[in-house]
Amino acid sequence: MILVTGGAGYIGSHLVMELLKQGKDVIVFDSLELGHIETIETLRQYGNLKFIKGNLKNIDDIRGAFMLNKDIEAVVHFAAYSQVAESVKNPQKYYYNNVYGTLNLLNAMLEFGVKKIVFSSTAATYGEPVYTPIDEKHPQNPINPYGTTKLIIEKIMDDYDKAYGLKSVRLRYFNVAGANSDGKIGEWHEPETHLIPNVLKASSFKSFKMFGTNYDTADGTCVRDYINVEDLADAHVKALEYLKNGGDTNYFNLGTKTGNSVKEVFAACESVKGTSIPLEICPRREGDPAELVADNTKAREVLGWTPKNDLKYSIKTAYEWENNLKKLQNMV
Ligand code: UDP
Repeated sequence: MILVTGGAGYIGSHLVMELLKQGKDVIVFDSLELGHIETIETLRQYGNLKFIKGNLKNIDDIRGAFMLNKDIEAVVHFAAYSQVAESVKNPQKYYYNNVYGTLNLLNAMLEFGVKKIVFSSTAATYGEPVYTPIDEKHPQNPINPYGTTKLIIEKIMDDYDKAYGLKSVRLRYFNVAGANSDGKIGEWHEPETHLIPNVLKASSFKSFKMFGTNYDTADGTCVRDYINVEDLADAHVKALEYLKNGGDTNYFNLGTKTGNSVKEVFAACESVKGTSIPLEICPRREGDPAELVADNTKAREVLGWTPKNDLKYSIKTAYEWENNLKKLQNMV
């Protein structure tokens, strides 16, 4: 049985769906502060899913999950706050939730003898790129509290391995995009801050705001590496297999090695929608590096992982999901 924290959220729910499709038993532990009960209801249709509503900040919530489920083999830990701008304004919220919450999780794991964890880390642990594409040897100097919380957790995991033999795989995501292929689950943030959903949500009432067109890139807009969410879920499945097969603590970049500019993403969204999208050019958003592209060689070689879906496919599935989400939101 696999315990997934944050399994009612965007990326976590895609992994849960994949595990259920493979016939695995899954427990989702989620506070539903940011995740959605509707997502859990959808996931239940795919297999044997237990849901525990709990908060990692309450050690007894997570101890209870282990106490009642003695057959947990491994944990996949998504639950976290992840908005960069908010983390700058309110670091206390981020350190308390992300770092303290993870400590409770790790301590409960040790107490109940569970010693394998796959952890959602981030390209934000690297900070301002010194070279590109970014490989795992790139220095980690986060430039915001969100990235720092994830780096601190990576370091705690190293120490817990040395002292207690807790094995971790840290997956450093670049820009996650798309929704599941049948449009049943997808990105559902309130408020939404990410590029693709914001372009797709734009209308004549609310134009899309493009943040900065004077970067030192080919077309002046920021370049990012958009990794499809189902490919990302597949990397987690492979990371679990790696640990199950006795793999040591390790860390991997998850991206495609291809960069796309904000203008390119915008044009691809217009092409998928088949209409022009109202656009407003705005000043730069604080803290956005010009370019973030992953060197994914290590994940390919060690995990045997290959991303399969391109940006256009991610945008198509995101668009289908946006349409389904509107229906869901009208119902709730
Ligand atoms: N972006 C934008 N308008 C938006 C949201 C994002 O122009 O409404 C830009 C943002 O400035 C960045 C890129 O799109 O250059 C990707 O931003 P996102 O928030 O999706 O991911 P991040 O790279 O911050 O993790």
